[in-house]
Amino acid sequence: MTANLLEFDLEGLAVFCEGLGEKRFRATQLFRWIHQKGASEFDQMSDLAKSLREKLKVHAHVQALPVVSEHFSADGTIKWLFDVGDGNAVETVFIPEDDRGTLCISSQAGCAVGCRFCSTGHQGFSRNLTTAEILGQLWFAEHFLRQHLNVDERVISNVVMMGMGEPLQNYAALLPALKAMLDDHGYGLSRRRVTVSTSGVVPMMDRLAADCPVALAVSLHAPTDALRDNLVPLNRKYPLDELLRTCTAYLARAPRDFITFEYCMLDGVNDQPEHAQALIDLVRQHGRNGLRCKFNLIPFNPFPASGLLRSAQSRVQAFAKQLQDAGLVTTVRKTRGDDIDAACGQLAGDVKDRTQVQTRIAQQRTIILQSVSGTSV
Ligand code: SAH
Ligand code: SF4
Repeated sequence: MTANLLEFDLEGLAVFCEGLGEKRFRATQLFRWIHQKGASEFDQMSDLAKSLREKLKVHAHVQALPVVSEHFSADGTIKWLFDVGDGNAVETVFIPEDDRGTLCISSQAGCAVGCRFCSTGHQGFSRNLTTAEILGQLWFAEHFLRQHLNVDERVISNVVMMGMGEPLQNYAALLPALKAMLDDHGYGLSRRRVTVSTSGVVPMMDRLAADCPVALAVSLHAPTDALRDNLVPLNRKYPLDELLRTCTAYLARAPRDFITFEYCMLDGVNDQPEHAQALIDLVRQHGRNGLRCKFNLIPFNPFPASGLLRSAQSRVQAFAKQLQDAGLVTTVRKTRGDDIDAACGQLAGDVKDRTQVQTRIAQQRTIILQSVSGTSV
């Protein structure tokens, strides 16, 4: 097995090069070829010594996950489905806007947290993605887009870890991927343009603050422990008070930053005026001037197994206004790529269903074969 070089941040690649008997600085050249130019063939890397290229051909490769499908939305959103084996797939979504291009990346196949309103959570947990599989989503998308749009300069300006999975439950693989995103020899994204979204894995939020304090989004979804225990089961382990204290500590590392609180609007469940008031009180309790935060209200993307409904648009607007009137910066997320099911977990869910259909068909075939052999006896 040769090493997939997408597995490494620059430091990891330097160690790998040393292992091949090469000087560390060769790693910088190699890293730039891979991430800045999108090269995957070592013969393309013209300024590397021939001897190094020959060694790399024997010991290394550069490969993202295989693409199952590509979907182009009328609004410019593109969604890729990547094969992760065992009949599972993960998704990556590119969302173009006037002033930015955002890539939404997955960190796990499935998710173990099991939030009530999330189709990924309903699928259960399959496995962690490797660093190469996480970073490979950016590598693939960036260089695909440059070709597709026929441009030389960077297309993706922002990354959000908001695809499938809980990134902070796959921390060891996540960290080198984040470092490569920020590295000037890699994608050169600023700390504030890379967002990790978490359902609240408290100890790993502390680790992230120390190791790589990128922008943090916390999936709140409820203002009380009783309700959040039910919607986000991880709350039973790390309840709201502890979660918000950890948010405050995170900001101590990043003084000009704020936490984005995501709040999925569920009809009759968490969208009433008393919920908004409880949220306002909760934020005020934490910090003298309140916790530095923004609210992002997400219209729920319904799926039948959840038994939940999307809040009416008028309710979402009234909820937003209540928070804004209390001085909390609040936005409502635009739905994008609706025509290609670009919302959390949806398309990968389809693939799982298809796999089950295939299994059922295969079982039927087996039964038919048995009865045929039965009559022939
Ligand atoms: N596991 C991480 C990141 C992936 S989910 C987390 O939970 O934060 C990214 C965002 O999509 C989260 O805020 C999540 O709550 C939200 N989400 C999940 N399912 C959704 C649905 N059906 N409709 C709307 N938002 C959803
Ligand atoms: Fe996992 Fe996030 Fe979905 Fe919850 S919302 S099940 S943490 S992916």
